Amino acid sequence: MSQVNTIANVTDEIDGDEAVHQNISAGVALADVLQTTLGPNGRDKMLVGDGQVVLTNDGASIVDRIDIESPAAKLVSEVAHSQGGDIGDGATSAIVLAGALLREANELLEDGFHPTTIVNGYAEAVTRMQSRLADIATWENPDDEMRRQIVETSITGRWDAERTAFLADLAVRGYQAAQSNDGPRLENVTIHGIAGGETADSELLDGLVIDTDRSSTSLSDVPAPLPKRVEGARVAIVDDELTIQTPESAPQFSIEDVNDRQRLQTFETDEYERYVDTLTTHDVDVLFCQKSIDDRLKALLAQAGILAFERTRQDEVHKLQRATGASPIMRLGELNVSAVGHAHVIERRTLGPSEFTLVRDSASTQVSLLLRGGTDHVVDETERIIVDAIDLLVSFDASPGVLPGGGATEVALAADLRTWSRGIGDRTQIVVNAVADALETIPRTLARNAGHDPIETLLELRHRHDDGDATVGIDVGTGEVTDMYSRGIVAPIRLNERLLANATGGVTSILRIDGIIHVDEPMHGEEDGHDHDHEHGVGGGFQSDPHGYPWAIGH
Ligand code: ADP
Ligand code: MG
Repeated sequence: MSQVNTIANVTDEIDGDEAVHQNISAGVALADVLQTTLGPNGRDKMLVGDGQVVLTNDGASIVDRIDIESPAAKLVSEVAHSQGGDIGDGATSAIVLAGALLREANELLEDGFHPTTIVNGYAEAVTRMQSRLADIATWENPDDEMRRQIVETSITGRWDAERTAFLADLAVRGYQAAQSNDGPRLENVTIHGIAGGETADSELLDGLVIDTDRSSTSLSDVPAPLPKRVEGARVAIVDDELTIQTPESAPQFSIEDVNDRQRLQTFETDEYERYVDTLTTHDVDVLFCQKSIDDRLKALLAQAGILAFERTRQDEVHKLQRATGASPIMRLGELNVSAVGHAHVIERRTLGPSEFTLVRDSASTQVSLLLRGGTDHVVDETERIIVDAIDLLVSFDASPGVLPGGGATEVALAADLRTWSRGIGDRTQIVVNAVADALETIPRTLARNAGHDPIETLLELRHRHDDGDATVGIDVGTGEVTDMYSRGIVAPIRLNERLLANATGGVTSILRIDGIIHVDEPMHGEEDGHDHDHEHGVGGGFQSDPHGYPWAIGH
């Protein structure tokens, strides 16, 4: 290890077998923690820290929030991050599978297998499984019923059945609304989570919802009472400030002279009245201005009954354009018929602690999801569920194959690997069979977490698959071993593709490590924390989760 000399502050070094062994135990320990949360009947974990307590059974959430000390457990937790980032679902399964593969690897190492043989065998098994997935999958024309089933399967266990169905429907409608001729445009969906109310009060609106408390976009503050609701609103958007814009063209006055000051005011008032005239000529009821509006103009607008918003956030300018069909203009002189947009209704509402403005029109290509729930935590979870669900549906459309859930796909893959491995002449055969065993951890864990006998369930599953029922899994609701399609327990093919790749990828990196060197100082290029997901372009009001829970998983 010549490299050692070049690293400063080496405090201690662990080599070869011991390193692999330690890393495996750390990875397995993390998988064990998450194992009990797998599936609809998975138990919650209580995360405690910073005076806050969070209950969740979402693997990705748990991994995100806990402080993982061991470097190897960090590698395994990366499996969950990649899975969550790739597809928005399957993080727990990926970790459970990674843990099972590590456990199998440990046994193989004890039996004298070289890590390289294991790594290669795992790679061969993955290639085989990836090619089998497309055959196991059903490739029907995707419809909304199928999409709802996919989302329901992915979120069951997070809420009760009624809320699950409600949210699945909302996610599918949100996703549909974001469809355009060139595929999904997720920026066309705005999500607002608002604490207060019931989950079932959540709604999908055609148009844009603006949180006027949090966004810079605000209603101009005038003493006159402003309308709460404007029906059949005609909308103008000005992409600049509304003050006197061309001082050069204004006559020169001396401010000291009282008469001059009067004349300046008259000039400005005339100019502002012309602005208002332009708007009233075009029957504009609502004005959105991207920058500020002069106070006197605000007063005149209010007198004319025009609802005016100033400092409209740039992204909201674009969204308003999509919601109303208005074209932003740089100055009011440019206003013409085609620049004026339309909204079926524009209304101001107080929701939870904030003031909102809803701009609704059935022709809107912008949609907004208003997510409600009793507490901030519930709303955050709901937001996360919806974002992940929409991601999942995007993956499904990109590759519209569905696989049976409830462990059916894993059992089918395991059976295939066992048959296929018979044709392998060398010790790789044993490694491939170990992968088959690891896969079966998924149905066993689903059964165990739901209070069913894992061994009985697995035996029955194997038996049914041997008889050719490749879509049979466990319905944990009833404990029945049955056809998963008929129960609507399904997953998009991409989910399983990513799951297999991520789990084996993480395990392979651990098995390839052949020494651990502890250094005192942070190494160059080390990340200062991984921020899971939310690069979706979907959300508006995502609040980042507090990180750094002092709850550590050691080994
Ligand atoms: P992950 O983070 O991996 O998505 P989940 O806790 O969401 O973890 O569990 C996903 C697993 O639960 C998948 O294998 C899925 O097929 C399975 N599953 C979902 N609903 C059911 C059900 N009703 N019966 C049996 N298994 C189910
Ligand atoms: Mg899930």
